[in-house]
Amino acid sequence: MEFTPEYLEPLPTADRWSGGGGPRPSAPWVVVRDAGGRRAAGGGDGGVAVLFDRDAVLIEDIAYNGDPGRVYPRPGARRAVGELRELGVRLGVLTEQPGIARGVLTRRRVEIVQHRIEELFGPFDAWALCPHGPAERCGCRAPAPGLVLAATRALRVRPARTTVIGGTAAGLVAAAEAGAHGLLVPTAVTRPGEISAAGHRRAADLGGAVRLVVAGGSVR
Ligand SMILES: [Zn+2]
Repeated sequence: MEFTPEYLEPLPTADRWSGGGGPRPSAPWVVVRDAGGRRAAGGGDGGVAVLFDRDAVLIEDIAYNGDPGRVYPRPGARRAVGELRELGVRLGVLTEQPGIARGVLTRRRVEIVQHRIEELFGPFDAWALCPHGPAERCGCRAPAPGLVLAATRALRVRPARTTVIGGTAAGLVAAAEAGAHGLLVPTAVTRPGEISAAGHRRAADLGGAVRLVVAGGSVR
């Protein structure tokens, strides 16, 4: 599979998430593919989208991994992605990679891992990546909404017709701040408090999350 991403112009981030003085952090990195004429589910206004957290939701979370040989899909993840793709849902991936800011990961290594993920899962319509560390106070790290907004803009879908499937409470907050729906799929490191705070906005696994998205009525 050839991987030919198209890099978009930097997207603006919300001022209130950018902190006070000092240099403004750069925007998230966004890759978007043309839908290739594929009909999006949900009608003529850009359709319906699902955005997945990359680490701990789609693939096992291995800190600072730049090795495509260590990309392991989470149980049920490939099936869940395949089912949504079949339904015509636009698919995006969100990922925070602070290892780039720390100098232990390069953009090239992240792209190689991304390529491997698409070999395993098939192509995603958009990727939105935060390359910043916490100290940069960027607008894209959850709970800020920047990554979610960057992905919805790239996909030209309305946040209200977008569901973010993540493994942390911060991801749910980011989705809500962006005006999108959030679903928590607990991972090994999700805290009990995060799970209870998610209320009904959670599923036991990715298969359950897909059923909730479909049952939500936005996919027909
Ligand atoms: Zn960022």
